Amino acid sequence: MKIEAVELRVVRLPLVTPFRTSQHSQDERIALLVCVHTSEGEGWADCPVSPGPFHEPEFLSGSRAVMAEYLVPMLMAAPGVTAARVQAVLAPVKGHQMAKAALETAVLDAELRAKQMSFAQYLGAVRDRVPVGVSVGIPGSLAELISQVEDYLEQGYKRIKLKIEPGWDIEPVRAVRQRFGPDLALQADANTAYSPASAHRLRALDEFGLLLLEQPLAADDLLGHADLAQLLTTPVCLDESITSPRVAAAALRLGACSVVNIKPARVGGYLAARAIHDLCAAHGVPVWCGGMLETGVGRAANLALAALENFTLPGDISATARYFTEDITAPFTLDDGHIAVPSGPGTGTEILPGVLDRLTTHREILR
Ligand code: MG
Repeated sequence: MKIEAVELRVVRLPLVTPFRTSQHSQDERIALLVCVHTSEGEGWADCPVSPGPFHEPEFLSGSRAVMAEYLVPMLMAAPGVTAARVQAVLAPVKGHQMAKAALETAVLDAELRAKQMSFAQYLGAVRDRVPVGVSVGIPGSLAELISQVEDYLEQGYKRIKLKIEPGWDIEPVRAVRQRFGPDLALQADANTAYSPASAHRLRALDEFGLLLLEQPLAADDLLGHADLAQLLTTPVCLDESITSPRVAAAALRLGACSVVNIKPARVGGYLAARAIHDLCAAHGVPVWCGGMLETGVGRAANLALAALENFTLPGDISATARYFTEDITAPFTLDDGHIAVPSGPGTGTEILPGVLDRLTTHREILR
């Protein structure tokens, strides 16, 4: 396959409600989309970076620059590029996993569309719909939290995840557990907000029967997580720490986690995501698919990944309406707490050209 041009688009999607974690707050999604124009057709991908480097080290204008100056010229100079070769071609560039993942995914989409094969089929999916959970940001009050959770449960979500931070942890978890009872599938995500010295505070969460506690400590603190996992009865799950199959293998060997949240963009794409899935399966460690406020393009590919066998916990994929009033693809909707896995060629979702053009704030074509 010959790559003839790569198109980058910045689109602006207003969020239904502002989303706040321990690290960051946002009230709109400014997304970066990549389209590869190849000898065999087009392929699209979402590069779910944020405008600033506050959640991930990569950020939108940085990703645009590294693609335009380095990654795209390297890809266009390489003969016979396939998705499986993209990482090797781009290996001279250090880091920039999310930018590389977006290019790999766009090439994979083009390749699979040309072969009339879906992401789900290619990755080895075993389900045609997946149960989904919802991630609840940090609201202004406990009453607001309870009403949001109630609303999501009425919509049919199968699992609730609460964002926590020091000072907003034990009380909200207790309040939700008391209000909705012991059978609610409930988990908490700290997004790296704690230090090892706060282990006693995290231990207090043990009494609430959480499915897991996600990424309490710094992303590079695998040993800290291994020590913490010994102190807690709540299973420790890693998210920000898991940046590659190699890091995942180290985390498992160290006992730093007993559950893994796989974010395809962060680990370098869907091929690396599948490798982490296989590794965790071999260790008997369940995985689930996290979300990075993807547009419908990324959401579609994430649904295919989440349909693999060892994705035994509901992911953060959510229906489109959880985040956006309008998306650049047809919306994904909930049906009894599940979302259908797209079965068409490639990601199986089509971009709505009129909406895309209306929401685009920047467009460049690299040749
Ligand atoms: Mg997380």
